[in-house]
Amino acid sequence: MSPAAREPYDVVCLGGGITGAGVARDAAHRGLKVALLDKGDFGSGTSSKSSKLVHGGLRYLEQGELKLVFEGTAERSLQMRRAPHLVRPIPFLVPIYKRNRPGLAVIDIGLWIYDALAMFRSPKLHKTYRGKRVKALEPALGTDGLAGALEYYDCMTDDARLVLENVLDARALGADVLSYTRATGVVRDGRGRVAAVRARDELTGAERELPCRAVVVAAGPWTDEVLGTVGVSFGRPLLRPTKGVHVVVDHARLPVTRAVTLFTRDKRVIFCLPWVERTVIGTTDTDFAGDPDDVAADRADVTYLCEHANEFFPEAKLGADDVIATWAGLRPLIAPPEGDGASRASDVSREHEVFVREEGVVVVAGGKLTTYRRMAKEVVDRAVEWLQNRGDAAFEGRVIRRCRTKHRPLPGAQGLEALELPGQKAIAALAARLAAGAKLPARVAEHLAQTYGTRADQVVARGRAEPALLDRIDPELPYLWAEVDHAVDADLARTVEDVLARRIPLGLRGRDQGLAVAERVAERMAARLGWSAAERARQVERYAACVATTRRFRG
Ligand SMILES: Cc1cc2nc3c(=O)[nH]c(=O)nc-3n(C[C@H](O)[C@H](O)[C@H](O)COP(=O)(O)OP(=O)(O)OC[C@H]3O[C@@H](n4cnc5c(N)ncnc54)[C@H](O)[C@@H]3O)c2cc1C
Repeated sequence: MSPAAREPYDVVCLGGGITGAGVARDAAHRGLKVALLDKGDFGSGTSSKSSKLVHGGLRYLEQGELKLVFEGTAERSLQMRRAPHLVRPIPFLVPIYKRNRPGLAVIDIGLWIYDALAMFRSPKLHKTYRGKRVKALEPALGTDGLAGALEYYDCMTDDARLVLENVLDARALGADVLSYTRATGVVRDGRGRVAAVRARDELTGAERELPCRAVVVAAGPWTDEVLGTVGVSFGRPLLRPTKGVHVVVDHARLPVTRAVTLFTRDKRVIFCLPWVERTVIGTTDTDFAGDPDDVAADRADVTYLCEHANEFFPEAKLGADDVIATWAGLRPLIAPPEGDGASRASDVSREHEVFVREEGVVVVAGGKLTTYRRMAKEVVDRAVEWLQNRGDAAFEGRVIRRCRTKHRPLPGAQGLEALELPGQKAIAALAARLAAGAKLPARVAEHLAQTYGTRADQVVARGRAEPALLDRIDPELPYLWAEVDHAVDADLARTVEDVLARRIPLGLRGRDQGLAVAERVAERMAARLGWSAAERARQVERYAACVATTRRFRG
């Protein structure tokens, strides 16, 4: 072992969702020695189960959480510049019916506040439409009692890839990033402070110890469980997790052209989101007390979402049989103090909190995908403060840089400035160049540019040696075989599920959720990862089990 390898990590971060990935990237960028661990794939927890919105959150405005909205819109604007391939503006339409309270005028004022909190730097300011003009915008909307509609802008993203690009950047900045590595305990020094994290590779069973000065717990819905693992107690559960479900239907069955924000009769908000070939409907928000490793959409969740969509889109007549795929995740919300009145799951605050414990454990809980960079800054600031006051001779005199992630593009946006075009125009130019250069269909080129940004060239280059790699995996969707190889070689995929659920999400978009190609995907991966025939079969079986979980609602 080299002396550098024996040197303890300044920070070992437990949990590689968006929060942990953001923390690892920020800490590595400041010159700290960092390890990032996830018991599964990076982003396999809540961070790939969100509504995939980078937004201020219109609903939080209604709840008076102005700080959350302000921070959300500020981060939205920053991410549109630092990751334009992943954070893209789309129009949202809020239909308002005569029965709605608040009505059109009040929502209009709300949207002025939304625009103002975004310092009037929204992709576009909101607009009001009345009568027949609404029908022209969204022909499938029910018009009975329709008073009008408001259009505003927020952003959609690929949540799993947002995590991945943070992890890749953390690694490029020197962090050790270990997926399928579960923290199983800690070693403490004579003063009770953490001195090492014990970990197990979940794929090989290998055990290891990672010496460290501080631990960050960024374990999302697993926070209380991981606190037990590292021996830290708050005397009460820190979280009140709530379950959120999304369903995916064919776009032709619910042909929305923009995101539609539905104010439901039970005073919630549901989105119908256009996803090119598909439409996504979500989300539910219900208390959850089970095992965070076993979260799935049940029949009631699917019925709830279909019925609400049908209420606003009467011709859709959606039912459980129309659902192609589902995903379910847990919001890692901080348990409110007893008696604060947040009795409904959807009323629990989305704010985050950072706790610093004298054992050298920094815990971050709550929060949103949208504000991950800000949360990471706060966590690393607090961890650095703790490290500097620790009285560790090896740390004395070390200069730790301030957070600069505001200025650093994510990997797929690095080099984009050469196109000398602003955000979305640069991505469109990239797509046009890919389409012309590699003779790719426009939809495929658009997908590559919006997924990999400037890294798309690496994917396409694989087709030069083996042209069949530029064939589509599924004739209906834009994914290419080259992306499977890229997922393993460049994007840290270690299992078939990593590839089909997150890197190339046929599991969410494919009519058969990628089951028919799982065997071929495993074959390609086996050649690169040295799998035996038995391991290949096990991988395919595991993927089928993962798909079965998403179909549990079918009974
Ligand atoms: C239905 C739903 C919709 C949402 N929509 C949005 C949205 O549109 N926009 C938005 O901004 N936010 C949204 N959110 C919130 C957002 O998704 C979450 O706040 C965020 O993803 C949480 O990220 P995280 O990294 O804290 O947790 P996670 O992503 O869950 O990451 C925690 C990680 O810890 C790992 N882990 C657990 N135990 C261990 C261990 N012992 N050792 C190592 N690793 C371990 C897990 O494998 C997991 O990957 C939504 C949430 C839900 C549930």
